[in-house]
Amino acid sequence: MEVRMTVSSVYIEREPLVAMLCAAIEVYPRECLGLVFGRKSSRRAPRHVITNVLNCAALTRHTTAEVVQSKRAGKRLYAFIDAVERLLPYIGFYHSHTEKTLRWQQFGFSHQDALTMSDADQFGIVLTVHPRTSRRLRWCVRSSHTRLRGSLGAFDFHLTAHALVRDAEGNCEKDDEGNWKTRRLPIEVAPQVLRALNRALV
Ligand SMILES: [Zn+2]
Repeated sequence: MEVRMTVSSVYIEREPLVAMLCAAIEVYPRECLGLVFGRKSSRRAPRHVITNVLNCAALTRHTTAEVVQSKRAGKRLYAFIDAVERLLPYIGFYHSHTEKTLRWQQFGFSHQDALTMSDADQFGIVLTVHPRTSRRLRWCVRSSHTRLRGSLGAFDFHLTAHALVRDAEGNCEKDDEGNWKTRRLPIEVAPQVLRALNRALV
């Protein structure tokens, strides 16, 4: 069988991007969690487009190392989202990783993060936040287009998007330890949005 994989990229519009940055800062150094809405990639248009985000308020575990949505609140919210799917298509989720100093492992999707991915077509965004180092980071997409980074206010941000790896039949793959395999998706942001973020860099 011929294996043909379409790697979807994730296009982030300006408003949801700024909303995710604000959500992560509001609860820093704790982690935030939220849902991502927009258009799912398809064979004809292989990119996810994020048009809206919703920061989750009802969290049971909300620490510097873990964030878990309240079960009752989650059940109610997903039932509602299913009902309004045509109005607001749910395509993924985001959460922040926070640390006083930056470690490259933070950009990774943890095994726990992969477990929360209920649908193989979904993707998860990790927004790594830490206090700004002395050097301001200009906003740009790095690491083979898989990491958006930049400084804003007193913080540095690194945003990555992760999806489960699927085989030719569409089944999700596991590694030797039985954990879901994940991969980083390319990120796209409009040049005018990067310019606006860089103008806000002070
Ligand atoms: Zn995580």
